[in-house]
Order: sequence, then C-alpha cells, then structure tokens
Amino acid sequence: MTAAHTDRTGAPADHPGRAEIAEHFADRAAALDRGDADVRPGLRFLGERGLLELGAPGCGGDLATMLLLVEDVAAGCLSSAFSLWAQRMVVEYVARGPADAAAARELDGLRTGSRIGVTAMAPAMKHVAGIEPVPVLAERTGTGVRLTGPIRWASNLFDDALVVVPARFADGGGLIAVLRVGDPGVTVHSAPELLALGATGSSSVALTEVDVPAADVLSTDLTGFVRAVRPTFLLVQSAFCAGLAGASRRQAATALDGLNAEFRPDFGELAAAHDSVRSRLFEFARVPQRPADLLRLRLDAARTAGAASRLEAAVTGGRGYAATSPTSRRLREAAFLPIQAPTEGQLRWELSRSA
Ligand SMILES: Cc1cc2nc3c(=O)[nH]c(=O)nc-3n(C[C@H](O)[C@H](O)[C@H](O)COP(=O)(O)OP(=O)(O)OC[C@H]3O[C@@H](n4cnc5c(N)ncnc54)[C@H](O)[C@@H]3O)c2cc1C
Repeated sequence: MTAAHTDRTGAPADHPGRAEIAEHFADRAAALDRGDADVRPGLRFLGERGLLELGAPGCGGDLATMLLLVEDVAAGCLSSAFSLWAQRMVVEYVARGPADAAAARELDGLRTGSRIGVTAMAPAMKHVAGIEPVPVLAERTGTGVRLTGPIRWASNLFDDALVVVPARFADGGGLIAVLRVGDPGVTVHSAPELLALGATGSSSVALTEVDVPAADVLSTDLTGFVRAVRPTFLLVQSAFCAGLAGASRRQAATALDGLNAEFRPDFGELAAAHDSVRSRLFEFARVPQRPADLLRLRLDAARTAGAASRLEAAVTGGRGYAATSPTSRRLREAAFLPIQAPTEGQLRWELSRSA
C-alpha cells in the first residue's frame, strides 16, 4: 500500500486516526516529562491501532506513513517518539531475521506493543563505520552463544523487554542476538536522572555470560544486517527530529511581530531548512538513497530541530523559560539529538570521509 501525497514536501496525506493520535501524545507530554508516567501506554495505544509496524518487511503499511506518524508523535512528545523509534526498529530487526528464530514468535507482541523492544544497536553503527568494535564479546557454546560485555545506553529497558544487541567473536566475525531483560546474567542498572526523556526507561546494562540459544541469533552477518536496517534506522530518527522542529517552528511562527520581527529572516531560514529535511525524508522513504545522503539528512534534521527549539525559546521569552513550559521541554529534548547515535560527531566524521 502506498499512501497518497499531499503537500509540496511529498508527505503522505494522512495516517489512520491522525488528529486523535497527535492530541493523545501532546496531552501526555508534560506527565511523561515530569516522570509521572512512562512511554509504554503510548506504544500500546499505537500497537492497538496496528501502527507500530508500518513499512517493516512483510508487515502492513508503508515507511512514508510511518515517518509521518513518528513526526506527529514527536511534535507532541519526543520521549514517546524516541521510544516508538526503538520499538519500530526492533519490529524491523525481528521481521528481517529468520522466520524460525525464537524472536519471530514475539513479532505479534512487538507489533501490538504488549512486548516492548530495545535496540542496543548504537555500537553496531560505530563498528560498521570502522570507528570502534562492538564491546559485547561472544563465545560459541554447544547450544548457541554466550555474551559478556556492556550495553552503555539503551532505552525501553522495561521488565521482560526484548533486547537486540550486536556482539563479536574474539577471532573475528559478529552477530546480532536477541535476549530478554530478566534473563540470567542480564543486569539493568538503575536509570540516571536525565535532562529529558526520563520516561523512556534509558539506562545501561551489564551482560555477564548470558546464554543465547542459536534460535535467538537473528544474524551472523553483523555488517550486512546493519547495512540493511540503516536506511530505516536513520529515516525514523530523522522523522522525530523533523517532528520536534515542526512543533517549534509552528510555535515560533505565532510570535514574530513587534520586536520579534527582527527574527523573521531567521525564521525564513529555519522554514527552508525544515522543508528541505521533510522533502528528503519522504522522498528517501520511497526511493533508495546512497548512505551519505541518508547521513546528511539525519545530520540536517537534528541540527534543524536544535535551531528551531532555540528560535522558539528566543521569540517566546520568559514564559518559555519556565521549567514546565513546552518550549523549555523542547529545548531539553532537542539537546539529546546531537548525542544520539549516530552522534553529530560520528555523522560529521563519516560524511567527511565519504566526500
Ligand atoms: C537518554 C539516552 C537514550 C539512549 N538510548 C539508546 C538506545 O535506545 N539505543 C542505543 O543504541 N543507544 C542509545 N543511546 C546511546 C546514544 O545513541 C549514543 O550512543 C550515546 O549517547 C553516545 O554517548 P557516549 O557517551 O556513549 O558517546 P561516545 O560515542 O563515547 O562519544 C563521546 C564523545 O567522544 C567522541 N568519540 C566517539 N568515539 C570516538 C573515538 N573512537 N575516538 C575519539 N572520539 C570519539 C564523540 O564524538 C563524542 O564527542 C542513548 C543515550 C542516551 C543519553
């Protein structure tokens, strides 16, 4: 199914229940930001509507519609959109794994949001870029592999969540494995207090001789697997950056009179950058692109969100500086984007070598 396009950016016209979904996440953003709730009910809300799988291999819907949904969720609440990215990626990984993998039996739960998914794949992105090897080591056993090493950061680390993690053998070669929070040898450290995204269950994990049966190995081709999932990984990330930027852009647009007319040129630049990000986002969802173009889009999307949140703060004034205002929440949310893998440092490094 391919969605119809509407606006000049080529975004799909709609996704099912669009207005209701946007309102749902915007209404809950403050509670999540305060730590009064976490992201799981939002995932289930989307899962019940069949929206966690859009565009995944062998699943329903198309990727462009997924990106529109992620944008809308991020415009209301980045914590929810970030968690949605993680869930959607785990659906992608499992859907790409062997049909007889044990995790394939979890696909229905992942799609409905009754099983939460964790993507601990940041080190895999660095590994494949040639920056540093993944830190989790694997040894072969009679029944599968045994994993030991750190997951330095991951989100959606809730009870019974399914964790997808890359590992490598000391003698070369790598794999993508699935394990569960609660498996013997899996220690989730208590979550640190964060600048934002505190509702996302983000923390670190130690793996100590975790036995993973062969049926829970999704791939023994770490590089090939990462290359296959990377376009979706980067596009969904770019979508939540674009969604946050859009919310700040809309808010800034309401405050450009009087003294703030001085900001109109800045607003014009921001609007052009945001439109460019969105045009590429939806085009790239439909037409396969070179890796460098995807990395450039992801970098531009994160920077545009940062610039938009700062402009919103500047034109909103003191009421935006109140800790509970959506303006200050978006500033804190946007501060996460340059340090999310691939980090701004990694994106610049990779782009400088791909010219
Ligand atoms: C709230 C939160 C949630 C997260 N959720 C997830 C998740 O769900 N899944 C996931 O996979 N990851 C997740 N991460 C991790 C995230 O994607 C990044 O990998 C992480 O934030 C990067 O921070 P770091 O300190 O590990 O940085 P590093 O990658 O160690 O980088 C720190 C600094 O060193 C530089 N640097 C990096 N490598 C090198 C090198 N080899 N030589 C020299 N300099 C280098 C970088 O440019 C940067 O300036 C999360 C992080 C946070 C904070």
